[in-house]
Amino acid sequence: MMMNIPLTVPAMLEHAEKYFSHKEINSRTATSFYNLTYAGLANDTRRLSSALTKIGLRKGDRIGTFAWNHHRHLTAYFGIPGMGGVLHTINIRLSAEHISYIINHAEDKVLFIDAELVPIIEKIQHELKTVQAYIIMTDDNTLPETTLHNVYHYEKLLWEGDENFDFVKDIDENDPAGMCFTSATTGNPKGVFYSHRGIVLHSMSLGLADSAAISESDVMMPVVPMFHVNAWGLPFASVWFGAAQVLPGPMPTPAVLAEMIENHRVTLTAGVPTIWIALLKELENGSYDTSSLRAILCGGSAAPKSMIQTFEKKYNIPFLHAYGMTETSPLVTVSRLKKHQKSYSEEARLDFRSKQGYVVPGVEMKVIGKDGEVKWDGKEMGELLLRGNWVADEYYKDDRTKEAFRDGWLHTGDVVTVDPEGNIKIMDRTKDLIKSGGEWISSVDLENALMAHEAVFEATVIAVPHSEWQERPLACVVLKDGMRDKVTKEELLDFLRPQFVKWWLPDDIVFLEEIPKTSVGKFLKRALRDQLKDYLQTTSK
Ligand code: ADP
Repeated sequence: MMMNIPLTVPAMLEHAEKYFSHKEINSRTATSFYNLTYAGLANDTRRLSSALTKIGLRKGDRIGTFAWNHHRHLTAYFGIPGMGGVLHTINIRLSAEHISYIINHAEDKVLFIDAELVPIIEKIQHELKTVQAYIIMTDDNTLPETTLHNVYHYEKLLWEGDENFDFVKDIDENDPAGMCFTSATTGNPKGVFYSHRGIVLHSMSLGLADSAAISESDVMMPVVPMFHVNAWGLPFASVWFGAAQVLPGPMPTPAVLAEMIENHRVTLTAGVPTIWIALLKELENGSYDTSSLRAILCGGSAAPKSMIQTFEKKYNIPFLHAYGMTETSPLVTVSRLKKHQKSYSEEARLDFRSKQGYVVPGVEMKVIGKDGEVKWDGKEMGELLLRGNWVADEYYKDDRTKEAFRDGWLHTGDVVTVDPEGNIKIMDRTKDLIKSGGEWISSVDLENALMAHEAVFEATVIAVPHSEWQERPLACVVLKDGMRDKVTKEELLDFLRPQFVKWWLPDDIVFLEEIPKTSVGKFLKRALRDQLKDYLQTTSK
C-alpha cells in the first residue's frame, strides 16, 4: 500500500511559502496597485486564518466573499480554508434577489466585501438571515460610511491575527473548502461544494502539459472573475506551482488588461470569449506589446474560429479553447492537437482547435443521444454526461439534484458531437438547441459562422416558434463600428449559404446595437427573446 496523505488547500500555500517565497503577485485595486511576494501572501493568510478564528468562526462555517480579482481576495482564498472555513465566492453581478438567496442558502456567517461593492449589500442586509459580521476590504485606513452592522476593517483585522498561526490540521480531504453557485435558466441559482481533495486534484490537472500546463515560469493573469468558479481554479494552481500572478482588479477595461499584459509580461491569461473579442478591438486601435503571452485560455462559451485565427495570425498569440462548468471545478476538456494532427492543413488544424477538445485525464465522459451512446462520427448529437474526482455529485440542499445527477453521472444539459479523436464540439445547451422539423440545428455553429464575417462584431442565434417546423433559427447581429450601412441581411445570408444545408439557414437576421449578456459575460438568450418579443409575435408562423 501507499501512504495516504490528505490533499488539502492549506498544504498548497505552504508549498509556495517554502519554495517560491520571492515570487510576485501584482494586484490592482480600486485606487491603487500592490505588489507582494508569496512570503507576504503566506504571512497575510496565516494572520487572516487566525483573525477569523479569533472572531469566533469555526470549521465548516461558510464565509462569503463579494469581491473582484485582487490580492486580498486571494488571501481569503487560502485564509478561509486555512482555518477550516468554506470559501463561498458570490457573483457580484447577480440580481439582488439571487444574491440574498445564495447568502441565505449557504448560511454565510461573515461576508468579505470590496468597499465599492458595499452599497449592493447594504440594500439587502435586512434579508440576510445568517450573516453576523462584514469585513470590508478597502485601500483607505478608515472604513467607509456604511449602514451595515458589525463591520471590520480588513487590514486592521489582519494585523490582529497571528503570523505564526498553524493552519487547521484536523481536516479531512473530503471536507468542503469552497462553494459556488451556478445561474439556473429558471429558478434560483444552484450551489455546489468543492472539497479540499477536489480542489487539489483539479489544480494538478491544470498543470499537465497537455492541459493548461501552468508552471513556475508562468505569469498568470486570471480575467475570469474570482467569483466565477474560483476563477477556473487558476489562483489555487498558480500558488501551488509558484507561478507569478497578475490580478486585474475592479472592472478591468480592455485597455487595463492590455497594459497589465505588457507591463508584467503576462504569459497566460484566461477568460470568456466576450473579453477576448473586446481585447481584439483594443489591440487593433492601440499599440501594445503582447509578445510575452504563451497562450490565452478561453472557455465559458464557444470561442469563435475567426477570433482564434485573428489572435494567432495577426498577434501571434496561441489560443487554448477549453470547456467546463461550475459543477466540474471547472476543467473538463482542453482543445489541443494530437501529435499526428500537427501536419494537417492549417484549416483542418483550426477546425480541430476550435472544438472544445477531449477530456483531461481524471474526467470521464459519455454522450447519450436518441438511441443510446452516440457514434464518434462528429455528426450525431447527444447530451454530455461527466464523472470525475473534481465533479460535484449533488447540488447543495436542492431538489434539482435528481434531474442532473443520475446513475453516478452529471447530466450537463450540453448537447455535443464527438469526432473520431474523442473531441467534443458543443452544439448547444439543451434549452437553446433549435428543434426544426424533428431535427436539431446548432445555434452555436451558426453564431460562429456569422462572427467570421468581417463586418460582424457579435452574433447570436435563437429559436423562433414556427407552426410547421416547430422552431426556426433567427440570427441577431451586432455590426462592427462603421459597418452599419455597408452590409445587408442578404449579404450575410449569402455568406452562410455555402457553409450550411439549406434548412439550417436563419429565417431572418435582425441587427441590434448590443446583445444582452449574463453575469459572467455570456450571451443571454432568454433576455434576447424577451427583448424581441414583439418581433417574435409578428413573425412567428
Ligand atoms: P452559467 O450557467 O452561469 O453560465 P457555468 O459558468 O457553469 O455557469 O457555465 C457552464 C456552461 O457554459 C456549460 O454547461 C456550457 O454550456 C458552457 N460552456 C463552457 N465552456 C464552453 C465552451 N468552451 N464552449 C461552449 N460552451 C461552453
